[in-house]
Amino acid sequence: MKRVGLMGGTFDPIHIGHLLAAETAREQCGLDEVWFIPSRTPPLKSGAPSASGEDRLEMVRLAIAGHPAFKALDLELRRPGISYSIDTVHELSARCPGCSFAYIIGGDRVNDLPRWHRIDELAASVAFIGVSRPGHPVDIGSLPESLRGRVRIIPMPQLDISSSAIRALRREGRSVRYLVPDGVHDFIVRKGLYGS
Ligand code: ATP
Ligand code: MG
Repeated sequence: MKRVGLMGGTFDPIHIGHLLAAETAREQCGLDEVWFIPSRTPPLKSGAPSASGEDRLEMVRLAIAGHPAFKALDLELRRPGISYSIDTVHELSARCPGCSFAYIIGGDRVNDLPRWHRIDELAASVAFIGVSRPGHPVDIGSLPESLRGRVRIIPMPQLDISSSAIRALRREGRSVRYLVPDGVHDFIVRKGLYGS
């Protein structure tokens, strides 16, 4: 069995919080690979992503270039409509019958797991690896019993970084260098993404 971590998100833009979560999960949970999956239309977010799907995917590719275990997948960007994880997992299981999958998610996403589309079905097919993030400590006790056993919480150095905060910095004309990998920084500046 190949053990694969799935890192889903809008990645608008990808930042070092995403990368550290993925690398920490890979190491602590013995994952063979981590697949980054930018979503087209995230189910539980208001408002469309700011950057195009193409640009968000390109930033993911730039960010993970050189990591032999990290891959970028475009299946959610290609699939029309809302990007439900359950559809992604069905597609990936068919593509790789020899793979076992675990979603890597931050504290905000752990706490809203009960609201995920067809969560019981999803939790039957994949496990979850949860990491706390500043402002979003994981509250495993508040999850329903059925989900609790499917979530493994791992420690990770806390990075108070979000894509929204990075977009806000750009709107104010401020630097986002080192919050994102150098290649992503240069791409954002060159394309004038997020408004400055
Ligand atoms: P936004 O502010 O636009 O929501 P974000 O920084 O939360 O952006 P997402 O693309 O929404 O990024 O998140 C993708 C996944 O990465 C989610 O599971 C989220 O919880 C996790 N994540 C994002 N930032 C961090 C961080 N700093 N530490 C740990 N996990 C994070
Ligand atoms: Mg988010």
